[in-house]
Amino acid sequence: MPGARLSRAEIERRLERCRADYEAAKARVAEIGFLCEGTLLQLRTTCGNPNCRCAQPEGRHGPYWQLTWKEAGRTVTRVLSEEAAAHYREWTANRRRLEALLAEMRALSREAGEYVAAQAGFNFEGPRRSSRRRRSGR
Ligand SMILES: [Zn+2]
Repeated sequence: MPGARLSRAEIERRLERCRADYEAAKARVAEIGFLCEGTLLQLRTTCGNPNCRCAQPEGRHGPYWQLTWKEAGRTVTRVLSEEAAAHYREWTANRRRLEALLAEMRALSREAGEYVAAQAGFNFEGPRRSSRRRRSGR
């Protein structure tokens, strides 16, 4: 409980900083456009013909774009055109940005909760989240 040993003024100062950082994160969330689940992959393939240019690593066919995601516990894959891939690239990046901001907002809220609790004289006992638990590989 980091708030317990701090002066009232210091607690108020830190709480104010949490509020400001939280408002800044909210403003960045508001700027985020459409989201897409899944992982965008760029593939270069070989056709198996030993005389084809793709037999050389630099000569492989492609690039092809592929989006992979989980749906009802199964992995779904879609091959995308270059144009579609550009949209999905932006939208999956938006999703990662949003998730990072949400993690930041959770951490700030937790910190603020400890200061609010210290001001009011009770212990903040909300659920703890490991910062390593983020990014479930999607
Ligand atoms: Zn080939």
